[in-house]
Amino acid sequence: MATTILTVVATSLTNVWLEDGGKHYLLFFFTLYLPPYSFHRKILYYPYHVSLHPEGIMTQRLDWNTYFMSIARMVSERATCTRASIGAVIVRDRNIIATGYNGSPAGQPHCTEVGCLIYVSKNPNGEEEENCFRTIHAEINAITQAAKHGTSIDGADIYVTASPCYHCLKTLMNCGIKRVFYAKPYKIHNIKDLIDNSDVELVHIPLD
Ligand SMILES: [Zn+2]
Ligand SMILES: [Zn+2]
Repeated sequence: MATTILTVVATSLTNVWLEDGGKHYLLFFFTLYLPPYSFHRKILYYPYHVSLHPEGIMTQRLDWNTYFMSIARMVSERATCTRASIGAVIVRDRNIIATGYNGSPAGQPHCTEVGCLIYVSKNPNGEEEENCFRTIHAEINAITQAAKHGTSIDGADIYVTASPCYHCLKTLMNCGIKRVFYAKPYKIHNIKDLIDNSDVELVHIPLD
């Protein structure tokens, strides 16, 4: 089926050349779309800027943190829970070990097809929380992918598009994850004590 073929269409490609002290700057503008081919479903607008020596040697690159967090954001586009789209990438020695996004267990109906199963609970602070019973969080799915393929994640880092919930953070700690990079804070006050009493480092990597 045409709608199941993974295709990324790059459009609006614009190359702009500027002069600045003998250096040339090349600006790319990508607009990416995923199937189904509704052009209303623009998933990513990603201005990308590199500078070039007159000889054409690239002098500016994405730093590693932005690189892996950008990949986590792309992974999040596979999420199937209608409440949120979260992506996670587990990295060691600048290599991606596993990825995960939030969604139903394999073979089970997805929230996008049958709706979320919302339940309300209270945390020990007395705050009410709403969660989806149907789905597995992105961080846990990344861990399960590593487990399924027999890959240790002890000592690795994780990049997540939102700060982890209390339950995911507990699990990440026991897997030996050393650093948690997040793009957007999500009820981050709930995990402060857990972070403060551990060796795990929580690092904010904002994305545009
Ligand atoms: Zn859901
Ligand atoms: Zn979680």
